Amino acid sequence: MSILNIGEDLRALGIRPSKRLGQHFLKDTGIADWMVERADIAPGERILEIGPGLGILTERLIRKTTSLTTIEKDPALAKHIESKLSIEVINADVLKAELPEFDKVVSNLPYQISSEVTLKLLEHGFKKGLLMYQKEFADHLVAEAGTRPYSRISVMCQYRADCTIVRNVSKGSFHPVPKVDSAIVELVPRPPYPAARSEEEFSRLMTILFSHKNRKVRNCLVSEHRRLGLDKKAARATADNLPYADERPVKLGIKDLVAITNSFIEHTDG
Ligand code: SAH
Repeated sequence: MSILNIGEDLRALGIRPSKRLGQHFLKDTGIADWMVERADIAPGERILEIGPGLGILTERLIRKTTSLTTIEKDPALAKHIESKLSIEVINADVLKAELPEFDKVVSNLPYQISSEVTLKLLEHGFKKGLLMYQKEFADHLVAEAGTRPYSRISVMCQYRADCTIVRNVSKGSFHPVPKVDSAIVELVPRPPYPAARSEEEFSRLMTILFSHKNRKVRNCLVSEHRRLGLDKKAARATADNLPYADERPVKLGIKDLVAITNSFIEHTDG
Protein backbone atom coordinates (compact mmCIF):
# COMPACT_ATOMS: atom_id res chain seq x y z
CA MET A 1 0.00 0.00 0.00
CA SER A 2 1.18 3.52 -0.64
CA ILE A 3 -0.12 7.05 -0.51
CA LEU A 4 0.07 8.89 -3.82
CA ASN A 5 1.14 12.50 -3.99
CA ILE A 6 -1.92 13.70 -5.87
CA GLY A 7 -1.19 17.37 -5.23
CA GLU A 8 2.08 17.04 -7.12
CA ASP A 9 0.48 15.11 -10.02
CA LEU A 10 -2.18 17.80 -10.39
CA ARG A 11 0.37 20.61 -10.31
CA ALA A 12 2.45 18.89 -12.98
CA LEU A 13 -0.64 18.65 -15.16
CA GLY A 14 -1.71 22.21 -14.40
CA ILE A 15 -5.09 20.99 -13.10
CA ARG A 16 -6.90 22.49 -10.12
CA PRO A 17 -9.42 20.14 -8.53
CA SER A 18 -12.95 21.23 -9.41
CA LYS A 19 -15.56 21.32 -6.65
CA ARG A 20 -18.33 21.45 -9.22
CA LEU A 21 -17.15 18.12 -10.65
CA GLY A 22 -16.81 16.55 -7.19
CA GLN A 23 -13.09 15.99 -7.71
CA HIS A 24 -11.70 14.29 -4.62
CA PHE A 25 -9.03 11.92 -5.79
CA LEU A 26 -8.34 8.71 -3.92
CA LYS A 27 -4.72 8.67 -2.81
CA ASP A 28 -4.58 5.40 -0.85
CA THR A 29 -3.60 2.60 -3.23
CA GLY A 30 -4.57 0.00 -0.62
CA ILE A 31 -8.20 1.05 -0.92
CA ALA A 32 -8.05 1.02 -4.72
CA ASP A 33 -6.54 -2.51 -4.62
CA TRP A 34 -9.20 -3.65 -2.19
CA MET A 35 -12.08 -2.26 -4.27
CA VAL A 36 -10.88 -3.88 -7.48
CA GLU A 37 -10.25 -7.24 -5.73
CA ARG A 38 -13.71 -7.14 -4.21
CA ALA A 39 -15.20 -6.64 -7.70
CA ASP A 40 -13.85 -10.15 -8.46
CA ILE A 41 -13.42 -9.51 -12.17
CA ALA A 42 -13.14 -12.48 -14.52
CA PRO A 43 -11.06 -11.88 -17.66
CA GLY A 44 -13.28 -10.60 -20.44
CA GLU A 45 -15.93 -9.21 -18.11
CA ARG A 46 -17.14 -5.84 -19.35
CA ILE A 47 -16.34 -3.16 -16.80
CA LEU A 48 -17.58 0.41 -16.56
CA GLU A 49 -15.81 3.17 -14.65
CA ILE A 50 -17.39 6.58 -14.15
CA GLY A 51 -15.07 9.49 -13.42
CA PRO A 52 -11.64 7.85 -13.69
CA GLY A 53 -9.96 11.09 -12.59
CA LEU A 54 -6.21 10.49 -12.45
CA GLY A 55 -6.73 6.77 -12.97
CA ILE A 56 -6.00 5.11 -9.62
CA LEU A 57 -8.81 2.58 -10.19
CA THR A 58 -8.46 2.59 -13.96
CA GLU A 59 -4.89 1.31 -13.99
CA ARG A 60 -5.93 -1.57 -11.74
CA LEU A 61 -9.00 -2.36 -13.83
CA ILE A 62 -7.03 -2.69 -17.07
CA ARG A 63 -4.90 -5.37 -15.43
CA LYS A 64 -8.07 -7.42 -14.89
CA THR A 65 -9.98 -7.03 -18.13
CA THR A 66 -9.57 -6.08 -21.76
CA SER A 67 -13.07 -4.64 -21.86
CA LEU A 68 -13.17 -1.38 -19.91
CA THR A 69 -15.31 1.65 -20.69
CA THR A 70 -14.52 4.89 -18.86
CA ILE A 71 -16.67 8.01 -18.90
CA GLU A 72 -15.05 11.25 -17.69
CA LYS A 73 -16.62 14.70 -17.92
CA ASP A 74 -13.45 16.74 -17.42
CA PRO A 75 -11.73 17.05 -20.83
CA ALA A 76 -8.27 17.60 -19.29
CA LEU A 77 -8.52 14.43 -17.18
CA ALA A 78 -9.98 12.42 -20.07
CA LYS A 79 -7.03 13.42 -22.24
CA HIS A 80 -4.56 12.69 -19.46
CA ILE A 81 -5.88 9.15 -18.89
CA GLU A 82 -5.92 8.44 -22.61
CA SER A 83 -2.25 9.22 -22.99
CA LYS A 84 -1.13 7.77 -19.65
CA LEU A 85 -2.92 4.44 -19.96
CA SER A 86 -3.36 4.16 -23.75
CA ILE A 87 -7.09 3.60 -23.51
CA GLU A 88 -10.04 5.37 -25.02
CA VAL A 89 -12.02 7.54 -22.64
CA ILE A 90 -15.54 8.76 -23.38
CA ASN A 91 -15.38 12.47 -22.60
CA ALA A 92 -18.98 13.03 -21.55
CA ASP A 93 -21.36 13.66 -18.69
CA VAL A 94 -22.43 10.20 -17.50
CA LEU A 95 -25.96 11.50 -16.90
CA LYS A 96 -26.29 12.42 -20.57
CA ALA A 97 -24.25 9.59 -22.09
CA GLU A 98 -25.74 6.37 -23.37
CA LEU A 99 -24.34 3.59 -21.21
CA PRO A 100 -22.78 0.58 -22.92
CA GLU A 101 -23.71 -2.97 -21.92
CA PHE A 102 -21.46 -3.92 -19.00
CA ASP A 103 -21.16 -6.64 -16.35
CA LYS A 104 -19.67 -4.70 -13.45
CA VAL A 105 -19.20 -1.07 -12.48
CA VAL A 106 -16.35 0.06 -10.24
CA SER A 107 -16.12 3.78 -9.49
CA ASN A 108 -15.29 6.45 -7.00
CA LEU A 109 -18.24 8.61 -7.96
CA PRO A 110 -18.64 12.37 -8.09
CA TYR A 111 -20.83 12.71 -5.01
CA GLN A 112 -23.09 15.50 -6.20
CA ILE A 113 -24.71 13.15 -8.74
CA SER A 114 -24.84 10.02 -6.54
CA SER A 115 -28.57 9.63 -6.62
CA GLU A 116 -29.13 10.21 -10.34
CA VAL A 117 -26.22 8.10 -11.46
CA THR A 118 -27.17 5.19 -9.18
CA LEU A 119 -30.74 5.14 -10.47
CA LYS A 120 -29.49 5.37 -14.05
CA LEU A 121 -27.15 2.42 -13.51
CA LEU A 122 -29.87 0.32 -11.87
CA GLU A 123 -32.34 1.03 -14.65
CA HIS A 124 -29.72 -0.05 -17.16
CA GLY A 125 -28.87 -3.31 -15.37
CA PHE A 126 -25.57 -5.08 -14.53
CA LYS A 127 -24.25 -7.94 -12.37
CA LYS A 128 -22.36 -6.17 -9.64
CA GLY A 129 -21.25 -2.70 -8.61
CA LEU A 130 -18.58 -1.43 -6.23
CA LEU A 131 -19.18 2.24 -5.74
CA MET A 132 -17.67 4.81 -3.43
CA TYR A 133 -20.15 7.33 -2.02
CA GLN A 134 -20.32 9.94 0.65
CA LYS A 135 -20.98 7.96 3.88
CA GLU A 136 -24.29 9.65 4.53
CA PHE A 137 -25.57 8.74 1.07
CA ALA A 138 -24.38 5.14 1.53
CA ASP A 139 -26.39 5.03 4.78
CA HIS A 140 -29.49 6.04 2.79
CA LEU A 141 -28.89 3.34 0.19
CA VAL A 142 -28.74 0.52 2.72
CA ALA A 143 -31.30 1.86 5.23
CA GLU A 144 -34.03 -0.45 6.51
CA ALA A 145 -37.67 0.52 6.92
CA GLY A 146 -38.36 2.34 10.17
CA THR A 147 -34.89 3.85 10.50
CA ARG A 148 -34.10 7.52 10.15
CA PRO A 149 -32.14 7.42 6.86
CA TYR A 150 -34.84 5.32 5.13
CA SER A 151 -36.01 7.42 2.20
CA ARG A 152 -37.04 7.32 -1.45
CA ILE A 153 -33.54 6.44 -2.63
CA SER A 154 -33.41 3.46 -0.20
CA VAL A 155 -36.64 2.16 -1.68
CA MET A 156 -35.78 2.78 -5.34
CA CYS A 157 -32.36 1.20 -4.95
CA GLN A 158 -33.37 -1.80 -2.84
CA TYR A 159 -36.29 -2.43 -5.19
CA ARG A 160 -33.75 -3.49 -7.80
CA ALA A 161 -30.64 -4.55 -5.89
CA ASP A 162 -29.15 -5.93 -2.70
CA CYS A 163 -27.16 -3.03 -1.24
CA THR A 164 -24.44 -3.45 1.38
CA ILE A 165 -21.82 -1.14 2.86
CA VAL A 166 -18.67 -3.21 2.53
CA ARG A 167 -16.10 -0.73 3.79
CA ASN A 168 -15.89 2.70 5.37
CA VAL A 169 -13.24 5.06 4.06
CA SER A 170 -12.02 8.09 5.99
CA LYS A 171 -11.87 11.52 4.40
CA GLY A 172 -8.09 11.56 4.82
CA SER A 173 -7.83 9.00 2.00
CA PHE A 174 -8.64 11.68 -0.59
CA HIS A 175 -7.04 14.77 -2.07
CA PRO A 176 -8.28 17.40 -1.57
CA VAL A 177 -9.67 16.21 1.79
CA PRO A 178 -13.49 16.38 1.61
CA LYS A 179 -15.69 17.51 4.51
CA VAL A 180 -17.26 14.09 4.93
CA ASP A 181 -16.25 10.45 5.23
CA SER A 182 -16.99 7.93 2.50
CA ALA A 183 -18.13 4.34 2.19
CA ILE A 184 -17.90 1.65 -0.46
CA VAL A 185 -21.24 0.07 -1.33
CA GLU A 186 -21.71 -3.22 -3.14
CA LEU A 187 -24.79 -3.34 -5.34
CA VAL A 188 -26.01 -6.68 -6.64
CA PRO A 189 -29.03 -6.18 -8.91
CA ARG A 190 -31.82 -8.81 -9.01
CA PRO A 191 -35.29 -8.83 -10.52
CA PRO A 192 -37.73 -6.83 -8.36
CA TYR A 193 -39.95 -9.09 -6.28
CA PRO A 194 -42.77 -8.40 -5.93
CA ALA A 195 -42.74 -6.16 -9.00
CA ALA A 196 -44.75 -2.98 -9.41
CA ARG A 197 -47.21 -3.12 -12.30
CA SER A 198 -45.75 0.13 -13.55
CA GLU A 199 -42.29 1.21 -12.53
CA GLU A 200 -43.04 4.74 -13.61
CA GLU A 201 -46.02 4.87 -11.29
CA PHE A 202 -44.00 3.27 -8.47
CA SER A 203 -41.29 5.90 -8.87
CA ARG A 204 -43.85 8.73 -8.97
CA LEU A 205 -45.73 7.48 -5.90
CA MET A 206 -42.51 7.04 -3.92
CA THR A 207 -41.58 10.66 -4.65
CA ILE A 208 -44.93 11.77 -3.30
CA LEU A 209 -45.06 9.44 -0.28
CA PHE A 210 -41.48 10.11 0.79
CA SER A 211 -41.86 13.86 0.57
CA HIS A 212 -44.03 13.33 3.69
CA LYS A 213 -42.52 10.12 4.96
CA ASN A 214 -43.74 10.56 8.55
CA ARG A 215 -47.36 11.33 7.68
CA LYS A 216 -49.99 8.66 7.16
CA VAL A 217 -50.23 7.39 3.60
CA ARG A 218 -53.88 8.46 3.42
CA ASN A 219 -53.20 12.07 4.46
CA CYS A 220 -50.28 12.29 2.16
CA LEU A 221 -52.28 11.16 -0.87
CA VAL A 222 -55.18 13.47 -0.06
CA SER A 223 -53.00 16.53 0.41
CA GLU A 224 -51.02 15.73 -2.74
CA HIS A 225 -54.12 14.95 -4.83
CA ARG A 226 -53.19 17.45 -7.54
CA ARG A 227 -49.81 15.85 -8.14
CA LEU A 228 -51.67 12.56 -8.43
CA GLY A 229 -54.03 14.01 -11.02
CA LEU A 230 -57.09 13.42 -8.80
CA ASP A 231 -59.60 15.71 -7.15
CA LYS A 232 -59.70 15.64 -3.38
CA LYS A 233 -62.76 13.42 -3.17
CA ALA A 234 -61.33 10.87 -5.59
CA ALA A 235 -58.01 10.87 -3.72
CA ARG A 236 -59.83 10.18 -0.44
CA ALA A 237 -61.88 7.37 -2.00
CA THR A 238 -58.75 5.85 -3.56
CA ALA A 239 -56.81 6.08 -0.30
CA ASP A 240 -59.66 4.27 1.49
CA ASN A 241 -59.12 1.29 -0.79
CA LEU A 242 -55.37 1.07 -0.36
CA PRO A 243 -53.54 -1.28 1.97
CA TYR A 244 -51.52 0.44 4.74
CA ALA A 245 -53.44 3.72 4.34
CA ASP A 246 -53.06 4.37 8.08
CA GLU A 247 -49.35 3.59 8.18
CA ARG A 248 -46.48 5.99 7.63
CA PRO A 249 -44.28 5.49 4.53
CA VAL A 250 -41.10 5.47 6.64
CA LYS A 251 -42.35 2.32 8.40
CA LEU A 252 -43.25 0.40 5.26
CA GLY A 253 -41.01 -2.17 3.60
CA ILE A 254 -40.59 -2.35 -0.16
CA LYS A 255 -43.16 -5.09 -0.64
CA ASP A 256 -45.76 -3.01 1.23
CA LEU A 257 -44.97 0.01 -0.92
CA VAL A 258 -45.29 -2.11 -4.06
CA ALA A 259 -48.66 -3.37 -2.76
CA ILE A 260 -49.81 0.24 -2.29
CA THR A 261 -48.68 1.11 -5.81
CA ASN A 262 -50.39 -1.88 -7.42
CA SER A 263 -53.60 -1.21 -5.57
CA PHE A 264 -53.41 2.49 -6.48
CA ILE A 265 -53.03 1.57 -10.18
CA GLU A 266 -56.00 -0.81 -9.92
CA HIS A 267 -58.20 1.85 -8.34
CA THR A 268 -57.29 4.73 -10.63
CA ASP A 269 -57.06 2.96 -14.03
CA GLY A 270 -59.92 3.72 -16.44
N1 SAH B 1 -11.94 7.92 -9.68
C1 SAH B 1 -11.00 8.97 -9.35
C2 SAH B 1 -11.66 10.36 -9.31
C3 SAH B 1 -12.82 10.53 -8.38
S1 SAH B 1 -13.38 12.19 -8.32
C4 SAH B 1 -10.33 8.65 -8.03
O1 SAH B 1 -10.81 7.77 -7.31
O2 SAH B 1 -9.34 9.29 -7.69
C5 SAH B 1 -14.80 12.13 -9.39
C6 SAH B 1 -14.46 12.08 -10.87
O3 SAH B 1 -15.69 12.13 -11.61
C7 SAH B 1 -13.63 13.24 -11.38
O4 SAH B 1 -12.67 12.74 -12.25
C8 SAH B 1 -14.65 14.13 -12.13
O5 SAH B 1 -14.08 14.92 -13.15
C9 SAH B 1 -15.59 13.08 -12.68
N2 SAH B 1 -16.95 13.58 -12.97
C10 SAH B 1 -17.64 14.54 -12.30
N3 SAH B 1 -18.89 14.67 -12.80
C11 SAH B 1 -18.98 13.76 -13.81
C12 SAH B 1 -20.04 13.43 -14.73
N4 SAH B 1 -21.23 14.05 -14.69
N5 SAH B 1 -19.81 12.47 -15.66
C13 SAH B 1 -18.60 11.84 -15.70
N6 SAH B 1 -17.58 12.12 -14.87
C14 SAH B 1 -17.76 13.07 -13.93
